[in-house]
Amino acid sequence: MAAGSAIQIPTRLPLLLTHESVLLPGSTMRTSVDSPRNMQLVRSRLLKGTSLRSTIIGVIPNTSDPTSDCDDLPNLHRIGTAALAVQVVGSNWPKPHYTLLVTGLCRFQILQLLKEKPYPVAEVQQLDRLEQFTNGHKSEEELGELSEQFYKYAVQILDAVRLEERFKMTIPLLVRQIEGLKLLQKTRKSKQDDDKRVVAIRPNRRISHGSITEDEEEEEDHDDVVVLEKKIRTSSMSEQALKVCLKEIKRLKKMPQSMPEYALTRNYLELMVELPWNKSTKDRLEIRAARIVLDNDHYAMEKLKKRVLEYLAVRQLKNNLKGPILCFVGPPGVGKTSVGRSIAKTLGREFHRIALGGVCDQSDIRGHRRTYVGSMPGRIINGLKTVGVNNPVFLLDEVDKLAKSLQGDPAAALLEVLDPEQNHSFTDHYLNVAFDLSQVLFIATANTTATIPPALLDRMEVIQVPGYTQEEKIEIAHRHLIPKQLELHGLTPQQIQIPHVTTLGIITRYTREAGVRALDRKLGAICRAVAVKVAEGQHKEAKPDRAEVGEGEDFKEHVTEDAKPESISDTADLALPPEMPILIDFHALKDILGPPMYDMEVSERLNQPGVAIGLAWTPLGGEIMFVEASRMDGEGQLTLTGQLGDVMKESAHLAISWLRSNAKRYQLTNASGSFDLLDNTDIHLHFPAGAVTKDGPSAGVTIVTCLASLFSGRLVCSDVAMTGEITLRGLVLPVGGIKDKVLAAHRAGLKRIIIPQRNEKDLEEIAAHVRQDLTFVLAGCLEEVLNAAFDGGFAVKARLEHLNSKL
Ligand code: ADP
Repeated sequence: MAAGSAIQIPTRLPLLLTHESVLLPGSTMRTSVDSPRNMQLVRSRLLKGTSLRSTIIGVIPNTSDPTSDCDDLPNLHRIGTAALAVQVVGSNWPKPHYTLLVTGLCRFQILQLLKEKPYPVAEVQQLDRLEQFTNGHKSEEELGELSEQFYKYAVQILDAVRLEERFKMTIPLLVRQIEGLKLLQKTRKSKQDDDKRVVAIRPNRRISHGSITEDEEEEEDHDDVVVLEKKIRTSSMSEQALKVCLKEIKRLKKMPQSMPEYALTRNYLELMVELPWNKSTKDRLEIRAARIVLDNDHYAMEKLKKRVLEYLAVRQLKNNLKGPILCFVGPPGVGKTSVGRSIAKTLGREFHRIALGGVCDQSDIRGHRRTYVGSMPGRIINGLKTVGVNNPVFLLDEVDKLAKSLQGDPAAALLEVLDPEQNHSFTDHYLNVAFDLSQVLFIATANTTATIPPALLDRMEVIQVPGYTQEEKIEIAHRHLIPKQLELHGLTPQQIQIPHVTTLGIITRYTREAGVRALDRKLGAICRAVAVKVAEGQHKEAKPDRAEVGEGEDFKEHVTEDAKPESISDTADLALPPEMPILIDFHALKDILGPPMYDMEVSERLNQPGVAIGLAWTPLGGEIMFVEASRMDGEGQLTLTGQLGDVMKESAHLAISWLRSNAKRYQLTNASGSFDLLDNTDIHLHFPAGAVTKDGPSAGVTIVTCLASLFSGRLVCSDVAMTGEITLRGLVLPVGGIKDKVLAAHRAGLKRIIIPQRNEKDLEEIAAHVRQDLTFVLAGCLEEVLNAAFDGGFAVKARLEHLNSKL
């Protein structure tokens, strides 16, 4: 901007409202932008624009209360400063915001507000010439950087368009500033050990307050730097790191504290000192003890526990960590995290969980370079700082939920972390020096392997953790969840009693899940309700009027003698003394948890033709799935609704084709009695309930059964569920996820399960007590499926009916 050449600012300017400080012409200000209005402005005006014009914005001090409702535009201050946006830096931490570096050009006055949303734009009139501020008025402008207490004053300076007026206003501030500096100099001189140090007297934000204490603070800061340097020299960091740190501390000493970089560098150095370069816990692995810990902490999951023990044993013998990373794959709430924690416990190591769900930026793993404002290390280095040792157990939770984005592939970064050939010199972008991760024990968890990036999956040994049976859940509840919840709520077994049958009720009527998370939550809700009752009881007992029931001690004895546990519902108004357990029966359940959520649903839904139960596999475990069909007059159209993928749609077409070609054989007719099922008929198939999109061919047999029911008018047995892929010729092909599907059917109280013949071997994996409750039908073709799905068979009955009709 050459002096003398007057530059015209645009007549329409987008307005940026700033709270913390006032931008004056000629000065530069860094401002953080986080309100939706300002963020929008930055995005559409500064990040998209290419011309210089689009980088000129109007900066208006927001004189209204910053905490007031941010939706409405506050009353705008009339005068502002046109500014050139010099730099925009975005960050997501601690919340999404941009940091703008703006240089004030000249004042302007708002003539008219042109629009308010998404950010204000105004027609403006330039108030002073641009070159006027290119030199000579520095001290005035710098005052604009004064802290909030000068905020109002700075606004007035901004408003003073006439130079003379402006001088008048700034003189008191300058005097104050000079006084401050004088004081500062005095105290400096009086400190002998400061002789050598020449401190540049800066119009520092803090010094400009002119108080001695601020000065002392600076001294302390200097001392801090010395302490920091000492810490760096005595720390056990790597040579490379030490070199970098010493270089940085040298820079820090020369840097004015007011520079944003000062704080950045300091934070960096403090982190470097804090990191556990050489600090580790001593492993104490004893396989027998490990087995006890795992058994004590977890009921069932034998296969998983066995594999974990093998893994630990091999590690103990080999005495190193190289080898695949364990990855527990299974539905939520089956104890994957909890086993990870136990592994750390058996080894005597620190445990840290790194949630990867939704992480789509590689700098989340590997950190931001320090050139960014708000940059920070990635989660791995942060985790190490948190645990304070270099050999923790890191649980990489939900590796299947990593996402890709423009900010680089986090999976690639993770690969580097997990690769034993590379991870001894893992370089976080923030640290910019290598850190040895080779002592960290990584364990991963996922709901499904399908979405784990293949390269990552290749590094891992997958251990499936299936869902639990009802019996297992009851045991887990009574051995682990209930005691934990009681402790959490300050209750004792003398105060609350939850019989097994109630737990079963919660499992079957209030939850439908493969794991035990919802069950745990429901138990928590019960404990809360009981805690209130118990507290009320204690409260009442403490009152003297309790005596009306009996005499102190006598009363207590009397109650404990025939302490018949009473249901919480019976005692809604009667607070009990604490020594009488509150029994949680079905009435109590209803009171606390509300009416059951999954009651009688199955038989209710199967009371008309055109409904069949399929079994689906989702990353959250097995699920029973109702398939519904209806027909109406039409032109042979097939409509499909529900959350379903392409393969499932193909299955529907296959099913219809097969039924059409076999309509005569099974006596299937449309509404007008014709074997041409689609003649004047439309079919609607619906796959209700389920937030998870279902896909895959395994619904084939269910769709056939459902349509066979619709066209024959017969009901499908209400206790049958099925799964299997079909071919056009009516064969039933094997499918995956049998174990989870069978468990889901068992949970839902179904009795008979039709599976493809070639899946027979999968039944071996299913616990004996579950198998006992169920009958399995192994079907090789669709006729066998239909025969099993309808009472009295399907084909035989159809043929009989056919014969009867001929008689
Ligand atoms: P995940 O990581 O698989 O989603 P969590 O480890 O968070 O599941 O488990 C949820 C809760 O259930 C935890 O409190 C855990 O201790 C408990 N839990 C799960 N499985 C078992 C088990 N087999 N024995 C004891 N507690 C279990």
